[in-house]
Amino acid sequence: MKNVALLGSTGSIGTQTLDVVRASPEKFNIEVLAAGSSIGHIRKQITEFNPSTVIMSDVHAAEVLDDEFTAVTVLSGPDALKESVVACDIVVNAIVGFAGLPVTIAALSEGKTLALANKESLIAGGPVVQKARQTMKSSIIPVDSEHSALHQCLHGYRSNYDHPSKLIKRLIVTASGGPFRGFSSDKLDNVTLEEALEHPTWKMGPKITIDSSTLMNKGLEIIEAHELFGIKYEQIDVIVHPQSIVHSMVEFVDSSVIAQLSMPDMRLPITYALNYPERSEAQWGSIKWDEVTKLEFEQPDFDNFLCLRLAYQAGEEGETAPAWLNAANEVAVAAFLNYQIKWVDIPHLIAQALDNYDGRKAEEEHDIYEADKQARRVTEQLIAGKANG
Ligand code: NAD
Ligand code: MG
Repeated sequence: MKNVALLGSTGSIGTQTLDVVRASPEKFNIEVLAAGSSIGHIRKQITEFNPSTVIMSDVHAAEVLDDEFTAVTVLSGPDALKESVVACDIVVNAIVGFAGLPVTIAALSEGKTLALANKESLIAGGPVVQKARQTMKSSIIPVDSEHSALHQCLHGYRSNYDHPSKLIKRLIVTASGGPFRGFSSDKLDNVTLEEALEHPTWKMGPKITIDSSTLMNKGLEIIEAHELFGIKYEQIDVIVHPQSIVHSMVEFVDSSVIAQLSMPDMRLPITYALNYPERSEAQWGSIKWDEVTKLEFEQPDFDNFLCLRLAYQAGEEGETAPAWLNAANEVAVAAFLNYQIKWVDIPHLIAQALDNYDGRKAEEEHDIYEADKQARRVTEQLIAGKANG
């Protein structure tokens, strides 16, 4: 029986993780649940899974639940998130955004297995997360479908992890292309929030759905792949694959390509991460070969989807540049979700914010928090300037 800390339990990945746990109750015990503020949702989860600890980022929500569930320890705040990982075997980081950083660092520093959905922490935290990864027994098993695919394709090559580029010609990360694939710049000028929230193949939380529409999600995933597998940016390519059946591929130096396929269902990569290195018999996403009649591939449109280029540039720059990219994106996406800016403003705001990047080195955790704060301040000022001008 593995003790699981599920952080971000009320979201898209969180609830699908609970589906996976429900399917194998003999294997997993939910020890910790954490979420933002949704009391109604987590209340049902506490009743069903009986965790020993619950953490809410909203202090009021924590107080309400503390009164209600006297046998459960209910806490609030980032320190509580960090401490919660100690008693667990596996930490599922399914929090959205930069708020997931304390969990990623704590899980790795405590030598835990980290099932990582929260890509933002790895991207923003870069070199600092890499230091935490050196802790004995710690490991990251990616939950993101593309990186789960790459992890599976690289399975036989673990012993070469220190020098992976000797064997690998390139990683090929697939992208659905999002709801605006093939749109001209004129058409993109007028897209609405409602349209951006309609993803063609995946049902996800609002932030990553917007990131998918701008291709920033793919940009973040390029940095995620670089950080996870230690492959140079020039050896990581994106290819658009609208059916979302091939989740990513590895091309080896002899030109042989290995791919991982399934129907788009996040419960498969979640199951893989929770069971690794074993395989579970629980089945999600098995391919309906009568429905999958074609697999198409095309080049991404770097000119109309500027975010992809910005992500490569920030990744190449390294240090705290990815933290700036991530923070500027989070602020811009929040403003778009709030009807403050247009969809086309998102990449331009991020580009303008990155013009202010101060080159701070990513030496300690503190540097990442400072970079994040600075980038948020700059992006917020740019948005306020737009509103006033
Ligand atoms: P979501 O918005 O549906 O859920 C986010 C969860 O985080 C919620 O439970 C929310 O309450 C919780 N949360 C937010 N702030 C918190 C805080 N400060 N402390 C504790 N909990 C907090 O998001 P999602 O779509 O499930 O995505 C979660 C992460 O997984 C993101 O990093 C996303 O990029 C990644 N991811 C998601 C998918 C997907 O299919 N949804 C696929 C790949 C990767
Ligand atoms: Mg993905």
